[in-house]
Amino acid sequence: MTVTVRFAPSPTGYIHIGNTRTALFNWLFALKNDGRFILRFDDTDVERSKAEYAEAIATDLDWLGVKPDRVEQQSKRFAIYDAAVEKLKRAGLLYPAYETAEELERRRKLRLTRRLPPVYGREALKLTDADRAALEAEGRKPHWRFLLPNFKDDPFSPERTEVHWDDLVRGPQTVDLASMSDPVLVREDGTYLYTLPSVADDIDLSVTHIIRGDDHVTNTGAQIALFRALGAEPPAFGHHNLLTTISGEGLSKRSGALSVGSLREAGYEPMAIASLAVLIGTSENVIAAPDMAALATHFDPAATSKSSAKFDPAELDTLNRALIHALPFEAVRDRLAALGIEGEKAEAFWLAVRGNLTHVNDAAAWWRIVNEGAQSAPDLTPEDLTFVRQAFDLLPPEPWDRETWKIWTDAVKEATGRKGKALFMPLRLALTGLHSGPELADLLPLAGRERILARRP
Ligand code: GLU
Repeated sequence: MTVTVRFAPSPTGYIHIGNTRTALFNWLFALKNDGRFILRFDDTDVERSKAEYAEAIATDLDWLGVKPDRVEQQSKRFAIYDAAVEKLKRAGLLYPAYETAEELERRRKLRLTRRLPPVYGREALKLTDADRAALEAEGRKPHWRFLLPNFKDDPFSPERTEVHWDDLVRGPQTVDLASMSDPVLVREDGTYLYTLPSVADDIDLSVTHIIRGDDHVTNTGAQIALFRALGAEPPAFGHHNLLTTISGEGLSKRSGALSVGSLREAGYEPMAIASLAVLIGTSENVIAAPDMAALATHFDPAATSKSSAKFDPAELDTLNRALIHALPFEAVRDRLAALGIEGEKAEAFWLAVRGNLTHVNDAAAWWRIVNEGAQSAPDLTPEDLTFVRQAFDLLPPEPWDRETWKIWTDAVKEATGRKGKALFMPLRLALTGLHSGPELADLLPLAGRERILARRP
């Protein structure tokens, strides 16, 4: 069977680096197994789901290099969920319950004082048709619970019922269905909670592997039971650890911080984000993979740690620098042109400056320095000022190339007796206004004699 995975975000906000981890675990798993990747928008919550978020998520994924084979929206698939509900009702596996949240809480406390597990006691199953009619006459509407298969003949005497799965990340897992309440699948107002649409879709779309965050581990037992109740073999499951901020807080869709969109705007390369999102919190070294195929060779779900991992934005800078330092001109030609960096010197300029950049956009500042000189008046001591003026008078004639710098500084050394830092630093300051940057041997011919002379302080 073709490996089929899905990434199922709710379009209630922008995706962040943590959601990206889930998307990429699925994407790389599909890539490695010649499989299919479905993007499924879990948008049954019409109040909170927004088309603009769905569009932004699709854009962000595309920019990262995730290209879904199929896109589905749950809001267009209600017929499938309604059919699943009918199937469960006919089998007697979905029953109406009328308790309010307060009633449930009271019962939970009572069970605890009686040293019973604090799970739903299935009291609603005892209601007769007349009881239900009376409750509905009072204006109460039922929510619907899935009857977990954790008993032999008597649902009021649940027995230990183990469900097992071999988690792709966490290894063999066991849950006891008797330790759980029958999950509510349909609310009083007829809307669906996440569980049933998710399982019905996973069946309908022939999903073979569900890879998601480990905040869903506790849902898996009931979901496996639901797959079986709907007549399907459950898929394989993998639950990866979650990412937190550097101070250990969970990432929130609503915080906007660390959203893929804001990282893109800050000028990060997609593969820097992808590499970090996939490789932190695993036993693999965090490296900057140049493309998805390379990242896939470092991806192994079983190598993922079981505890949460901290996302450090500083690591993103390191990876971004590593990627940029190796980017050929062709890969950035259009982006540089958009920054106004074009013409016959653009390629030589890129090769000269890329080793000094954290973001591609930082090239614009160097382009200005090359073409216009220092952007602020160089801070030179009176002695250095005299020295620099003397040096400028020794600038060799054109044509200039990479050797020009050495020819010039040899002449300056000869004439002034200065050498080392005392020679280079004032010149660097006069030429660029900065204490560090690309090789001056490269910058000199890019600027040309006329522009350099114009910088004589
Ligand atoms: N919409 C769910 C979420 O974002 C999907 C969970 C799942 O992958 O099953 O948490």
